[in-house]
Order: sequence, then C-alpha cells, then structure tokens
Amino acid sequence: MKYDVVVIGAGPAGSTAAKCLAENGINVLLLDKSEFPRDKPCGGGLPNRVLKRFPYIEPLIDSISFGSITYSSSLRYKFDLLREKPLLLNVIRKDFDYGLVNLALKAGATFLGGKTVVDVSIQQNNASVILDDGQSIETQMIIGCDGTRSIVAEKTNLSKKTQLLCIALVQEQPMTPKQLDTYYTKKRLVHLFIKAQGIAGYAWIFPKKHCVNIGIGEFQSALSKSKPTTSLKDTYEKFIAVLKEMKLLPENFIIENLKGATLPIFPLKNMYRDRLVLCGDAAGFINPITGEGIYYAMVSGQIASKVIMDGLKQKNLSKEFLSRYQRLWNDDFGKDLKLLGQFNYQWGKDSEKIVRLFTRDRKFAQLLTGVTGGQISFSKYKGAIIIRYIYASIKDLFSIKEK
Ligand SMILES: Cc1cc2nc3c(=O)[nH]c(=O)nc-3n(C[C@H](O)[C@H](O)[C@H](O)COP(=O)(O)OP(=O)(O)OC[C@H]3O[C@@H](n4cnc5c(N)ncnc54)[C@H](O)[C@@H]3O)c2cc1C
Repeated sequence: MKYDVVVIGAGPAGSTAAKCLAENGINVLLLDKSEFPRDKPCGGGLPNRVLKRFPYIEPLIDSISFGSITYSSSLRYKFDLLREKPLLLNVIRKDFDYGLVNLALKAGATFLGGKTVVDVSIQQNNASVILDDGQSIETQMIIGCDGTRSIVAEKTNLSKKTQLLCIALVQEQPMTPKQLDTYYTKKRLVHLFIKAQGIAGYAWIFPKKHCVNIGIGEFQSALSKSKPTTSLKDTYEKFIAVLKEMKLLPENFIIENLKGATLPIFPLKNMYRDRLVLCGDAAGFINPITGEGIYYAMVSGQIASKVIMDGLKQKNLSKEFLSRYQRLWNDDFGKDLKLLGQFNYQWGKDSEKIVRLFTRDRKFAQLLTGVTGGQISFSKYKGAIIIRYIYASIKDLFSIKEK
C-alpha cells in the first residue's frame, strides 16, 4: 500500500485534513484504531465560528442553545445571557465525527477503521506507518491527529511525558423534549458552574435535542499543591446532587455511562519533523480556559493540508519547509491561545469576584464570556476587556448595580 499522505486518527482534525487533501486530488489514507461510528467523551459544544469557517458541517448540528447562565462557585452570583442569535451549536460526537469521516470519503479519501498505529518511521525519501498487526504502510507524508497522548507525537519525540492535562468526566443521558423544555427552557440554556465544588476548573450542562450532556473538568496546571485531593468522581456525584436541588435535573436522574478523558492544555513547542506534522489535540491545540478544541482541531487540519499540498507540488517535505505550518497556525489562532494560556492559572484562584463583576457590568461579562467561549478574538478585544474590567471593579467597589 502506498499513499501520498496517511492521516492517523479520524477525529475532527484528521477528517478535516483528509477531506481538504482528497478534494485536491491527493491520494490520502485516513486511519483510526476504532471502527466508526465511535463515541468520544466530549461536551460537543461548538462556538459559531466553527460553522462560519466550515459551513458544510451545518447538517451535522444536533441543536442550538440561545443563552447561558454562569454561576459563581458558591452559587451566590449568577449571570444570565439570553440571545436571539445562537450562542452554542451542539453536536453528538458519535454522529458529528462519523459525518466528517463520510465527507472525507465523499471527497475521495480512503478510510480504514480498526487499525491501531504503533509506530512511525521517517526515511529520506519516504515514511512508513506501522500497525499493531505488523503491517507497514508507505507514504510520502504523515499527519498525526491521534488525540491526547498521541502515539505519533511520542514516537517522534515531539511530546513530553510531563505534559499538563485537564482531567474531565462527562455523561450524556437521554431526556424527552418535555423534560428538556422544563429544565432548560425552549432556549435550551447552557449552565456553566465556575469552580463547581471548589475544583480548579468548571462544570457544564449542555442540553441537546434528545439528551443532556453534563461534565466537569479540572486543570492540573492550576491545582494548588496544598489543596487536599478529592476524587473527581466524588466531586461529580456531589455536583449532580446540587443540580437536583437546583431543579436543573429530575430527582430520578442517575449517574451512568460516566466517561473519563484527558485534554492537553498548552500547544507542544514543536509539532513538525521531516515528512510529519501534528494537528488537533495531538499538537495540544485546546482553549486553556474552557477546554474547547474542535475548532482548533479542524482549523489545524485545514492549515496543515494546505502546507502539505504545496510541499508535494514542490517535492519538498523537509522540516524546514513544514515549519510554515507552525507560522500559519500561530498567525491564525496561536496568538489567542497564548494569551488565554496566561490566564489558565486563574482556575486555581478565588473566582467569586469574576461572576460578581459580570453582574455589575453586562458589557464586561459579554466580552469576557465572548472571548473564552470563542465568539470573539482575545487579541482584538484585550484592550476593551481591561477597560471594562476596571469599570466593573469600580462599580463593584461602590456596589452600584446596573439598571
Ligand atoms: C470531557 C471533554 C469535553 C470536551 N468538550 C468540548 C466541547 O464542548 N467543545 C469542543 O470544541 N471541544 C471539547 N473537547 C475537546 C475536543 O473533544 C477535542 O479537542 C477534539 O476531539 C480534538 O479532535 P482531534 O481530532 O484532535 O482528536 P480526537 O477527536 O481525540 O480524535 C483522535 C482519533 O485518533 C484515534 N487514535 C488514537 N490513537 C490512535 C492510534 N494509535 N492509531 C490509530 N488511531 C488512533 C482515536 O480513536 C480518535 O478517533 C472536550 C474534551 C473532553 C475530554
């Protein structure tokens, strides 16, 4: 078997890269260790910019949320954001990822599920992908899209064992439309709990068309060393009990199919070698405040495929040539990720004030939730946020509530 490009991992990063390459006539193989459709633990919430940049995903959207309620850790303060326009696009990962694979297939890519990659090897004139059954696949170029704890990153010494992660638990439970209306209104309100149960992270409720997605995530990078460690599962159980008290879940709601997962928090220092690049979670492209990653996965897959097409044309897949990829993603979303990364440690601090400031000044709340939720660019609105933060803090000092 010989291909121009082999893409390892058929999540949003891999399928996007395979689609872009195949529709430009490149002979591409998309591989995944799972047979598809497969599930992936995730909130499945997408900011509008995913649809804006990839309009073809529209049929894969399950439902839309038109507002959110954000709570402070003590639940004393809360901030409501109701909109006429969509706030969050919800997807069911099993269907969304399968839909993206099918789009890659339609564009002309070959897909093989149930194929686990155990190693890669880079030579001067080609590269090989080695499967767990010993089979070797020859290619000119490899794209590693195999998610957190990527084997491709590990085998090429691009990742570090000490990589900081966010640890998360999530469950997606069926609900009737009537229940969803009762608990989350027709606007399908998203509920966000900043530092729920005191964790260095947050918890969420994402209502969908026929189910509700509830999760909790803690950033290891922001954990206080002095804080006694509680298991995330215990915290999740306590959180569910609180949701029942708040009438955000029915009394008979049970915890089942709870799945654990990890996310990278910061991009790897370097994500290319001769004949190889990494995309998506494998490269560490995650919003370090919210854990959102599908947008970055798809965009990095798109950018990588463009660079590779140029490289194939020019017969140059050297690391010097592929360094363009690093420059391009940095210009696209890298600066925002870097800025957001500077605030990741805030998850370990007292967060009560921030939601209180939201209640003092709506504009500040809209800007900050817009930036963290991926609606607007941080680098563009940084100045406006600082000004509004000062304004909200002054109002807070004098406890002047907004009319
Ligand atoms: C609990 C949780 C909640 C999240 N919520 C959101 C959210 O609401 N919105 C959002 O945008 N992001 C969210 N994310 C992040 C999002 O899930 C990831 O950023 C996204 O899935 C990254 O896509 P990817 O294609 O890089 O990797 P993945 O989607 O992880 O896909 C990697 C693929 O590689 C395959 N693979 C792995 N190893 C091998 C191997 N050795 N051989 C062959 N195949 C292999 C896997 O089977 C998998 O299909 C969440 C993550 C978690 C854990």
